[in-house]
Amino acid sequence: MKYCVLAYYNFTPLEDPAHDVVRHKKFFLTRDIRSRIYISHEGINGQMSASLQAAEEYMEWMRNDPRFKDTEFKIHSWHEHCFPRQTVKLKTQLVALDYPADLSQTGTHLSPEEWKNMLASKDEETILIDVRNQYEWDIGHFEGAELPQLNTFREFPDYVDALKETKDPKKTKVMMYCTGGIRCELYSALMKAKGFDEVYQLQGGIIKYGMEEGVDHWRGKLFVFDDRLSVPISENHPEEIISHCHTCHALSDMYFNCANMDCNNLFLACHACAEKEKGCCSKTCTLAPRVRAFIPQERPKPFQRLAELSQEHSS
Ligand SMILES: [Zn+2]
Ligand SMILES: [Zn+2]
Repeated sequence: MKYCVLAYYNFTPLEDPAHDVVRHKKFFLTRDIRSRIYISHEGINGQMSASLQAAEEYMEWMRNDPRFKDTEFKIHSWHEHCFPRQTVKLKTQLVALDYPADLSQTGTHLSPEEWKNMLASKDEETILIDVRNQYEWDIGHFEGAELPQLNTFREFPDYVDALKETKDPKKTKVMMYCTGGIRCELYSALMKAKGFDEVYQLQGGIIKYGMEEGVDHWRGKLFVFDDRLSVPISENHPEEIISHCHTCHALSDMYFNCANMDCNNLFLACHACAEKEKGCCSKTCTLAPRVRAFIPQERPKPFQRLAELSQEHSS
């Protein structure tokens, strides 16, 4: 059995998002679909795994709705479902940001091909910003990119203010990218509002870039917010591992949620170290009172709490 993994978003004003949640749930009722979908007054941000037929039907259903007809679906295939259940939730914001971003003033969208050309001619006046989290960055990112050092993305406005101290916003060319493109819609608008005139964003994110352009300028793999955890960005190229086991430093891009349920920290480990520490991130955690039994697996799957994480950051 083959499944389609869809990633998509659409900023489109929805008058009654609660009703769209209900419509989605009703549509899913009789179909082989598992999902993580957020709907708000701003639009929709969705990911799902579905049988080929259900995926086709869903995309058709969306295209027949004038509000969603221009939704761009990025499609991977996978051998099983990669979401635990059907989740469709009402949200107040699609991307967490305590700053009023004007979505009519976003950065210029570049196609993957245009992005690749711009990377090839990148000069010292250009900065390439990775708008993701540290754990996403660690297993893969564009060469020459910089990762803002933030505790949460709510601090992004402060990062932009600090950047203005070292880079002239009128002369600096900004290129930014994220997993599927949605985070850049807001953060590029924010950079423009804060005075950076020339801001570009990768349309469709890393997912689309990998599908269309392969691995040029890219190192490692792509972190995804589902059971797969990491995927090569292009199926036509050999996998590359650039990250290391946090204990023995052997190459590994396998993430584990710490088996200590009161920690649950996401960490990189090799099979041997994971087994030795019983799936815990530290010696201290192995001695904690609530430790899940460790079951060795070829590719570990995220523990459920990752689903909560992704509400803030998924793309
Ligand atoms: Zn190790
Ligand atoms: Zn731990």
